[in-house]
Amino acid sequence: MFLSVKEMELRKVRFDETFEPGQIDFTSEELTQASPLAAKGTAELLAHSGGQMRIQGQIQVEMTAQCDRCLGSARFNLDSGFDLFYRPASQLPAEEEVAIDEGEAEIGFYEDGGMELEDVLREQVLLALPMQRVCSDVCKGICPACGKNRNETECDCKLESHDDRWGAALRKIQLK
Ligand SMILES: [Zn+2]
Ligand SMILES: [Zn+2]
Repeated sequence: MFLSVKEMELRKVRFDETFEPGQIDFTSEELTQASPLAAKGTAELLAHSGGQMRIQGQIQVEMTAQCDRCLGSARFNLDSGFDLFYRPASQLPAEEEVAIDEGEAEIGFYEDGGMELEDVLREQVLLALPMQRVCSDVCKGICPACGKNRNETECDCKLESHDDRWGAALRKIQLK
C-alpha cells in the first residue's frame, strides 16, 4: 500500500491491512514471518512543517529467527505501537542530512511523493525485535566443547568457566 502525500494533502489516510507471510521481504534479515502481519494506523501531513509526514500505528505479528545461543528456532510475538516522522528527502541540503541522521534516528525521509507502508512496517518489525534473539531467557546454548544443544542433552564436558578461572587465580594469591 502506497501512502501518498497527494492524498494526505486532502485528508488523513487510514490503513488497516493484513500482510500474509511473503508479502514483506524479511529474508535478508534472517527472519521468517510466522503469522499474518496486522497493521493499523494513520498517515498525515503535519501543517506548516515543510511536508513532514507522521505515521502512527500498531503492528501485530509473530516472527521466528534462529536463536543466537542454540541455533534452534526462536519465536517472537510482536505487538507494538509506532509513531514515526518522515521528511521529504528533496528539501534537505546534503550536509544537514548527515547531522539529522546522527542526532535524531527517529526521523526518516521519503521520496517520490510518499512511503510504501510495507517499508515502514518492515523497519518497525526490526525495531520491535529484541537485540538478542534467543529462544528463551534460560536457553543454555550449544556446548562449545562437543557441539550438542544443551537444552536437549546434558553433556558431561567439563568447561572451565570464567568464574572458575577467577577463583583459581584468587586461591593462588591466597596461597602466597
Ligand atoms: Zn536457544
Ligand atoms: Zn559438551
